[in-house]
Amino acid sequence: MTKIKVKNPIVEMDGDEMTRVIWAKIKEQLILPFLDVDLKYYDLSVTHRDETDDQVTVDSAKATLEHGVAVKCATITPNEDRVKEFGLKKQWASPNGTIRAIMDGTVFRKPITLQSIPPAVKSWKKPITVARHAFGDIYRDQELVVEQPGTVELVFTPAGGEPQRLTINDFQGGGVVMGMFNTDKSITSFARACVTFALGEKMNLWFGTKDTISKKYHGRFRELFQQEVDRRKAELDAAGITYSYFLIDDAVAQTMKNEGGYLWCCMNYDGDVMSDMVAQGFGSLGMMTSVLVNPDGKYEYEAAHGTVTRHFRRHQRGERTSTNSVASIFAWTGGIGRRGEMDGTREVTAFARKLEQAVLDTIEGGTMTGDLVPLTTLSNPKSVDTWEFLDAVESKLRASLG
Ligand code: NAP
Ligand code: MG
Repeated sequence: MTKIKVKNPIVEMDGDEMTRVIWAKIKEQLILPFLDVDLKYYDLSVTHRDETDDQVTVDSAKATLEHGVAVKCATITPNEDRVKEFGLKKQWASPNGTIRAIMDGTVFRKPITLQSIPPAVKSWKKPITVARHAFGDIYRDQELVVEQPGTVELVFTPAGGEPQRLTINDFQGGGVVMGMFNTDKSITSFARACVTFALGEKMNLWFGTKDTISKKYHGRFRELFQQEVDRRKAELDAAGITYSYFLIDDAVAQTMKNEGGYLWCCMNYDGDVMSDMVAQGFGSLGMMTSVLVNPDGKYEYEAAHGTVTRHFRRHQRGERTSTNSVASIFAWTGGIGRRGEMDGTREVTAFARKLEQAVLDTIEGGTMTGDLVPLTTLSNPKSVDTWEFLDAVESKLRASLG
């Protein structure tokens, strides 16, 4: 079989633990035998990040900006236990956070749906993609516990001007207070990335805030989002994509009775909470993909789950594992498909779609990893291990490529 030529490079970010083992196997078994592709490899394993003082993470993000497409394996975000486990120099920051900051990107999480795995919400027929504005608000706030009577104020001192003051509360006793912010630049980038993504995926746009209560803070989000939608109205109209604004509580209620298929854009906290609700509602963490998109249309694809440490411990002891590889395979196909679209090489995109179909057909045919068995409506599902599943996908893929 002659390999399909991929015109431009794809950045590959390797990772840790169970996902690293699966990642290498996917590459060897399902990608490299079929594609002639220049992979710009960056080893983001926690030990290599440590050796390079995390420079490798920065370099991989810059390479993504240069080449436009990356695929990433899940990585350990070290806590104190991990520092001891690996003898690290320090508790390095989350690689995803670092990459997101360099790319100025927005994270979109999308479930992989199947006929035989019905969502928990009966009305859901199509995947709901959640876009989370992953900057600011309570994730960058300042907080105080007030332990005695006193006044808390909000003070803004303009450069070279007189301070403006607002009283937040005159405390008679104990309490709590929080100050948070966002920036026009970040909100606008978020809106741009959402519009770009909706156009690319042909999905309607939803956005919700609580601007009836928070007229200035949430109101600013609504206003800037609307400006971006207005700016690109011609493109959205041509693609037949609509924009709907809701109050956030209404957006939640609508989601529970809608058939799905839209891009739900969320403020930071809402996105944090709602993406987990949507993920669980569609079934398994092993079936949730994630893509980081920057406003200029650079993409980094990954699985939404972590390195699946508990399964890795079993694998290290030589025990059988039934870790779901679907989201990791879809990280690869997401990147390959996007590369093909950017390069105008239809055969490359077609290969990605065929590999995805081989995965879906394998599961619909009754062969699946253990996590999906309790979720399926199929009567005699065959529970296979991590490697048997990949073998089954490979044979379906080979059959479909002829
Ligand atoms: P996790 O790796 O997502 O795994 C949590 C549990 O979810 C697993 O133990 C397993 O449950 C289930 N699960 C997740 N993915 C699965 C899959 N593909 N197939 C089957 N079951 C799956 O989260 P974690 O254990 O909290 O975190 C482990 C490491 O991953 C941490 O070091 C964390 O920093 C890192 N992490 C990285 C990313 C990223 O790179 N994007 C994201 C999150 C976490 P059972 O054990 O019950 O089978
Ligand atoms: Mg969360």
